Amino acid sequence: KKLGIALVGLGTYSTDQLAPALLETKLCYLSAIVTGTKEKEQQWIEKYGIKKENVYTYKNFDRIIDNDEIDIVYVVLPNSMHAEYTIRAAKAGKHVICEKPMATSVSDCKKMITACKKANKKLSIGYRLHFDPFNDNMMRLGQSKFYGNKMTVATEFSFNVSDINHWWRANKKLAGGGALMDLGIYCLQASIYTFGELPLTLWGKDTTKPDSIFNEVEGSIEWEMTFPSGKAYCKTSYESPFKSHLILNTEKGKLELSPSFTYDGIKGTTPDGEMELKNVNQQALQMDTFAQNILQDTSSIVPGEMGLRDNYIIEKIYESAANHSAVVNLNDIPNILDL
Ligand code: NAD
Repeated sequence: KKLGIALVGLGTYSTDQLAPALLETKLCYLSAIVTGTKEKEQQWIEKYGIKKENVYTYKNFDRIIDNDEIDIVYVVLPNSMHAEYTIRAAKAGKHVICEKPMATSVSDCKKMITACKKANKKLSIGYRLHFDPFNDNMMRLGQSKFYGNKMTVATEFSFNVSDINHWWRANKKLAGGGALMDLGIYCLQASIYTFGELPLTLWGKDTTKPDSIFNEVEGSIEWEMTFPSGKAYCKTSYESPFKSHLILNTEKGKLELSPSFTYDGIKGTTPDGEMELKNVNQQALQMDTFAQNILQDTSSIVPGEMGLRDNYIIEKIYESAANHSAVVNLNDIPNILDL
């Protein structure tokens, strides 16, 4: 039997990526939807053959507890709503995939992990690039120190946003932060998975333009992290032309993914030439792998604890940026996982 997934929040990512990916998955399928928009109900029922009784609203969401056709709840809402819906899903006895960033505070991340543990349900974060062959290759070559022990990472994820009217990502309460929470988190993730190490220290600098349209959250930010094997320089912005790259400088030359963080079209090179790999449907593989984790009772490779770790580092980047780029020690990372 395929596991049933309920998508919570039918915005851009659910509509354009996750629902189409669920037509390709082998171990799970789209069995239910949760939406606050009446017009979307009929459209989704028709397009994806969803049963009328498997359509929920945010108000009656908790009734999923009585629905055996929902095994997994996938939370695809504005960032500050992730915690509430993850916890309600766990209480209803469902496994959860929660989109990135996991939450808007470390304390919410902890509550989410505790709720899923208490319910004996698995919790996974929507870190799709762990399922992309190019990023996976970078992880393997970086972590094995294939091209030498000393390395430097340089990575950026940016694009230009010209209108923030009605855009929840520019709203501090809903987004929790700006470009860092949304795009920079990919650079943070990439640095850590390329080194395969935890960062030791960091400093950050808010580089939002003086005449920026962003007034509640940062439009641009840069930060640097030290690792046992080298440094990572990271940049992210809503105020710059599109950039998406992950560069690894090693003793034996340069490795590069460009673009590195897109849904498709990722390309990569190493000192030995082009990476002969194919792009895959990252979301389909991500959801099938989680379904397999549930069916075989194995651990997610992108668990809640990883989301918590990243939210903790994000808080430290903001702390440094607010404190004249003071160097922040990250010795405490292993301890934050003691819940
Ligand atoms: P979106 O704005 O397109 O959709 C958000 C959905 O939430 C909409 O359906 C909206 O109706 C609903 N919603 C419910 N309450 C709301 C409220 N109070 N304010 C605003 N919207 C409300 O956003 P999106 O791009 O689909 O992003 C949703 C989540 O998915 C975010 O956490 C984002 O970071 C994540 N995301 C992840 C990826 C990825 O590649 N992993 C890509 C895009 C988005």
